[in-house]
Amino acid sequence: MKKAIQFVLPLLLFTLIISLLCGCNEDEELHHKVDDVLEQYNDLEEKYGQLQNQLQDVQNQLSGIYDQVHKEEVIQNPDYSNEAYEKVKYIDKVLPDRDCYHGANFKLAQKWIEWNLLEAGYKASDIQYQDVSIIKYEKKTTDLKTKYSQANFSTDGKNYQKDGRDYVEQENGEYVKVTIETPNIIVTKKGKSTKQIIVGAHYDGTGTGDNGSGIALLLTTAQHFYSIETEYTLQFVFFTAEEYGCYGSTHYANEMTDEEVNNTLYMINMDSLVCGDYCYLYGGIQDNEKQVVTKTEAFDHAMKVATKLGLTFKQNPWTWENPAPGYDKPEYASPSTGDWSDHVGFKMRNITYLYMEATNWEIPGPYKEYDGYGETVLVGMLMNTENDYLEYIETYFPGRIQHHLSQFSQLLNGLLIQTEF
Ligand SMILES: [Zn+2]
Repeated sequence: MKKAIQFVLPLLLFTLIISLLCGCNEDEELHHKVDDVLEQYNDLEEKYGQLQNQLQDVQNQLSGIYDQVHKEEVIQNPDYSNEAYEKVKYIDKVLPDRDCYHGANFKLAQKWIEWNLLEAGYKASDIQYQDVSIIKYEKKTTDLKTKYSQANFSTDGKNYQKDGRDYVEQENGEYVKVTIETPNIIVTKKGKSTKQIIVGAHYDGTGTGDNGSGIALLLTTAQHFYSIETEYTLQFVFFTAEEYGCYGSTHYANEMTDEEVNNTLYMINMDSLVCGDYCYLYGGIQDNEKQVVTKTEAFDHAMKVATKLGLTFKQNPWTWENPAPGYDKPEYASPSTGDWSDHVGFKMRNITYLYMEATNWEIPGPYKEYDGYGETVLVGMLMNTENDYLEYIETYFPGRIQHHLSQFSQLLNGLLIQTEF
């Protein structure tokens, strides 16, 4: 027993010391490990900080490059649609009734256009009011002051009863000849060359799309081009009395001298740019005998510029090979269109034209013809209806106004800065 104690006790003691020693070692190792990990953590934290700084540098460089690229894009291909949209809103709210004879906002619209031009830098001498005379025969009983409250008018006092005009004979009334004066507004921006491009939109009417959109884009573009040097002289024209038969534009075209006609490269007409499903370009004169469309130079040029700018536009789809459903020949052959807007007077003077419009030729219009009056699949035609106002358009077609203005704005700018035609 004693022997056993003698043997076991040191063994126990040894085991105890060893285990104590080992405990100390484990503690120390842990401490080392903790220290190591802490050191690694600190290292990593430092590296993380450095990487964050590097990342920030790279981000700064990237945004610098992006800014440069973006700035170059803006110089090459400006888009004035935001400003044009602001003007559409203004017209919708403040100038809805621009009927050139009796519209409550017609004269205010003139002042607003002029004021915007002067603000952009144009001088009063750059802006010309061209009076357009319109002859009407009115029943003696007509209240002319109400009917022509926004235009200057005079009568020659003569009675035009039964002077050979059908309507007089049919209605069997007493008529007087009334002369009404209503102005086109013409803004001239001189280019290096006397060769000119005429850009027009009618400012009469009662619609936000027709033709608040055209006014807005024309005015915005004219403002910007005040300070842009161009090869060609630009004539920005706000036409009157389109809604009554394109009187303003026809008068303008007829008043042009032969020299002016020869100096005119082409005419651009903008009418109803934002309501229709698609953005269209038209041009040319339809020759039914030869089954061709001639004088398409302005249209062809615009299509080329559009392609260069990465923009796509539709054209009237109907041709002699592919007439509209139910027709054996095209009523309006592509890429031309009907004689229902301000391009007509210029076409008659043999000036090549480009006509911009948003509509939908793939669907029948209200007259059941595939004539480009369809405008929208969803709600049909908006122009000349009570639905042609901003809230309605944005409700049914959110984003469309902005999109279409952007397309047409970029193309128009692209065309006006060209140095060759
Ligand atoms: Zn119109």
